[in-house]
Amino acid sequence: MHTNHSYNDLLALRRRHLGPSLSLSYREPLKIVRGRGQYLYDEAGRAYLDGVNNVCHVGHSHPRVVSAIAEQAGRLNTNTRYLHDGLVEYARRLTATFPEPLSVCYFVCSGTEANELALRLARTYTGRQDVIALDHAYHGNSAATIDISPYKFNSRGGRGAPPWVHIAPAPDPYRGLYRDTSTDLGARYAGPVAALAAAHPPAAFIAESILSCGGQIVLPDGFLAAAYAAVRAAGGVCIADEVQVGFGRVGSHFWAFETQGVVPDIVTMGKPIGNGHPMGAVVTTPAIADAFNNGMEYFNTFGGNPVSCAAGLAVLDVIEAEGLQQHALETGAYFLDELRALKDRHPAIGDVRGLGLFIGVEFVADRVTRTPDPATASAAVEALKQEGILLSTDGPDHNVIKIKPPLPFDRGNVHSISSALSQFLSAR
Ligand code: PMP
Repeated sequence: MHTNHSYNDLLALRRRHLGPSLSLSYREPLKIVRGRGQYLYDEAGRAYLDGVNNVCHVGHSHPRVVSAIAEQAGRLNTNTRYLHDGLVEYARRLTATFPEPLSVCYFVCSGTEANELALRLARTYTGRQDVIALDHAYHGNSAATIDISPYKFNSRGGRGAPPWVHIAPAPDPYRGLYRDTSTDLGARYAGPVAALAAAHPPAAFIAESILSCGGQIVLPDGFLAAAYAAVRAAGGVCIADEVQVGFGRVGSHFWAFETQGVVPDIVTMGKPIGNGHPMGAVVTTPAIADAFNNGMEYFNTFGGNPVSCAAGLAVLDVIEAEGLQQHALETGAYFLDELRALKDRHPAIGDVRGLGLFIGVEFVADRVTRTPDPATASAAVEALKQEGILLSTDGPDHNVIKIKPPLPFDRGNVHSISSALSQFLSAR
C-alpha cells in the first residue's frame, strides 16, 4: 500500500465507492494497519487487544502461516485439476481430525460457500428440498444461505422464510422457550425439530455446534443427539456448521460437535481454517460424496488451490505445535471463572456462558425478568474500546458481548478485559 489517506478521506472514499450496506464497527471507526498475535495496531502505533476475531485463529499474521502462503505463492498457484501433494496432504490431515465416516473433503473459499455446497450435497443425496434450521441462526451471505438464516430473513430488510425452510426454536437455556429451571433441556428442545422433521421430511437439519450470532449459546446436553436421531429417522442428513467454533477453540475437543457426542453427516468450516486466508471446507461421508458424483462435475476455481492448502496445513501445524487447543481449554476456564465472579458483583450481567475461548456475557436490565439491556452491552463495548480492548455484541436482542479472541490470548489478557469490564460496571 503506497497511498495513505487522511481519516476523513478514508471515510469519504468509502462512502463514495463501497456498497452502503457494509458496516463499520464503533462510533468512531478504527483504522487498523497491522496485526500480531492477539493484538491489532492503529496508525499511531496504539495496540488494541482483539477479543473478538476468531478468524485469525492462531494469531494475526502468524509468521509460520505467512511464510507458508508466501513460499507457495512464489512457486505455484493453480487449481484442483492437477495432481498436487499439498492438496491430498491437506485433505488427509484435515480429515484425520474427524471421526469416521467423515473422510471426504471439498475445498471452497468461504463459510458461505461451504454451507451452499452442504445444501447441494444433502439435496442430491436425499432427493429432497426442505431444510430445518434454528431460530436466529446465520449461515452465510448468498441467496440460499440467507434463506436458511433467520438472523437475516427475519430482521431489517428480510423477507421471511421461504416455504422450504422450517425454523425450530433456538435451544437457549437462559432466554429460550425452555429455561435452565427445567430438566432435560436437550430433549425438550429437540422436540420441535422432531415435529418439523416428521411434518416436512427434510433434506437436512443444519445447526451450529454452539450458537454464535444467536447469542453465544452453549447447546443443552443431549440436544444434537436427539435432534440428529429424529432427523435421520425422517430420512434427512445432519449438517454441523463449525465455521465459527471449530479448530480447537472449545478446548475440550477439536470440533464443537464432539461436545454433544454426535457425528454429523456433513461438517462445514470457514473463518479460522486459513487464519485469514479466504478458504473454507466441507467434510462428509463417502456415501454422500458418491451420491453427489452424479455426472455433474463440481469445480471451484479457487477452492483447494496450492496456496490455500499451504495456509490450511500451516494452521493445523501451529495449533498442534503451540498446544493451542489445550491453551484454549485452560484460558477459557479461567476466563469463565473471572467473568462469573464479575457477575456475582454486578446485577447488570444476567448470564455468563461458553466453552473454551468462545464466551458470551449477557446484559440484563433486571435479573428476575431477564429483560435484555442492549444499551449497557454496547456502552461496555465502546468503553472497553477506549481502554484498548476490542469486543462486540450479538444475539437477537444485541445484548450479548461476544468473546472469541485469537487463541494466543492469555491470562494477562483475561485480566485486562475483566478489570476493564469491572471498572465500567462500577462507574455506572
Ligand atoms: N456460518 C456461520 C456460523 C457464520 O458465522 C458465518 C459468518 N459469520 C458463515 C457461516 C459464513 O461465512 P463467510 O462469511 O466466510 O462466508
